[in-house]
Amino acid sequence: MTNDDLKAIKQLLQSPKKIVIVPHKNPDGDALGSTLALQLYLELKMHRCTIIAPNDYPDFLKWLPNESEILKYDSDFKSCDTLIKEADIIFTLDFNALNRVGDMETALSNSSAIKIMIDHHQQPDDYATYTYSDSKMSSTCEMVYHFIDMLGDKNIIDTHIATCLYTGIMTDTGSFRFPSTTSDTLRVVAFLMDCGADHSEIHNQIFDTNSYERLQLLGKALSNLKVIPESKTAYISLSQEELNAFNFKKGDTEGFVNYALSLKDIIFAAIFIEDKQQDIVKISFRSKGDFSVNEFARAHFNGGGHTNAAGGKSDFNLQDTIDKFISILPAYKNALNNE
Ligand code: 5GP
Ligand code: MN
Repeated sequence: MTNDDLKAIKQLLQSPKKIVIVPHKNPDGDALGSTLALQLYLELKMHRCTIIAPNDYPDFLKWLPNESEILKYDSDFKSCDTLIKEADIIFTLDFNALNRVGDMETALSNSSAIKIMIDHHQQPDDYATYTYSDSKMSSTCEMVYHFIDMLGDKNIIDTHIATCLYTGIMTDTGSFRFPSTTSDTLRVVAFLMDCGADHSEIHNQIFDTNSYERLQLLGKALSNLKVIPESKTAYISLSQEELNAFNFKKGDTEGFVNYALSLKDIIFAAIFIEDKQQDIVKISFRSKGDFSVNEFARAHFNGGGHTNAAGGKSDFNLQDTIDKFISILPAYKNALNNE
């Protein structure tokens, strides 16, 4: 973001505005943490602010400060459309292309509000009036901290804002272990702890609230794990039937793909999750080192993300999707073995 952009945004926020804040579809800890933190901050600055999520999110995020006030577009699109139409400013957080909001895309495209993107994904689309994009950042939450700091307001970050920001940084960095974690990230995190974020309690809320069924589903996922040693690749699949058998709920498969990536000598991992309702297979990709799953997901599975974490989807059935994946791998054998 240029200095001129920052000046213009400061000017814009001088007087109370009607603001809508939007995370991506299937929002994760970073998407929700960043939108909630920004809302809490803007409300301290006397703006009228609503978060509209495209759809629901997992229970392990339903304790975040102010979370209960989030509107969900797919269950309340009429009032959401009105809010979007009447907004002066729309912030879009933690995504880089409008199609990442699903059915909300039309309403957002048609809106004449000033749009401000804050995001850390690669190759951002050019839809926003002001784009604050930095793919070197660990998380959108780290960027919202910098955004508040650039506006000269880090001194008003309170316990609730700090808790939301800490949560997103923690979840997007795999609890501070991914290469995206920098010494700056940790300085931000230290500052957030000083503002009252309780790191131990936040970790507990996110990771130690498993249901018995989720752990049984993890057992099933691990027993479905397959390895392709010549491509240093491992993958997991879960059919709709298997999901149903363990009473699958949104978010239950979060983090499963990391078990595939944790195998010795494996640098590329995928999980294929059948979704009969949408008639797609949702895929998560993870890698270690320079192998870009963002490029891989963009090239073959209509997706994208970051170098080491990306997602995509397939209209084929589960087995055909896996067969397609396996048939593509030989073309990447050199890249995967050079890592
Ligand atoms: P996850 O695998 O945890 O769902 O997502 C990993 C990363 O890839 C996240 O940063 C997420 O925003 C991004 N991502 C997931 N699914 C998609 C997709 O279908 N399209 C794009 N462009 N990005 C995705
Ligand atoms: Mn993120």
